[in-house]
Amino acid sequence: MQNINEIEELIKLISKLPGLGPKSAKRIVLRLINDRDQLIKPLANVLAQIYKNVSRCKNCGSLKSNLVGCDNCENPKKKFDKICVVEDIADQWSIENSNIYQGYFHILGGTISSAGNRKGDLLIDSLVDRVKRDKIEEVILATSATIEGQTTAYYIQESLKNSKVKITKLAQGLPVGGEIENLDDGTLISAFKNRSKLISNSS
Ligand SMILES: [Zn+2]
Repeated sequence: MQNINEIEELIKLISKLPGLGPKSAKRIVLRLINDRDQLIKPLANVLAQIYKNVSRCKNCGSLKSNLVGCDNCENPKKKFDKICVVEDIADQWSIENSNIYQGYFHILGGTISSAGNRKGDLLIDSLVDRVKRDKIEEVILATSATIEGQTTAYYIQESLKNSKVKITKLAQGLPVGGEIENLDDGTLISAFKNRSKLISNSS
């Protein structure tokens, strides 16, 4: 196996994925090779399709299909007056699965202090634009209960100071250090229900 460059390359790539090291990468590659038609072929196809057709929306940060546009912010059938701000797409998926929230999402793609993330990368300007353009009444800050998450929430709150929007934050019931995507549905639902208002210029 050592002499086949493609295999070495694939093992190297797979071991870069979250939660996987060289050992599990080797196991995965062996499994793929043993099932060329059922695994390698469809996997190669779907990866090529995703590379071509799926990208991060520049407006809301969610994943969008380049063929039909962004279902999160460009779908005319979905009109909401709330935006929930999260760090990652996995957080959006967790909140959607809990069924507690009906509204738009805004995915920052990280936090202010995480390495290599400049404020400009976090789509905060586009959040301020969306609030104005879509006549949003409430912005729900659902960043993690980590120092970075809370710093980011504070920065967003400051950025929205001049817009007439109600800003709320998920309830303190969130465990300290808790990341949204790892919360169970019960905790998430109660954090949403008991969210608290930060500032409001409208009422
Ligand atoms: Zn979008």
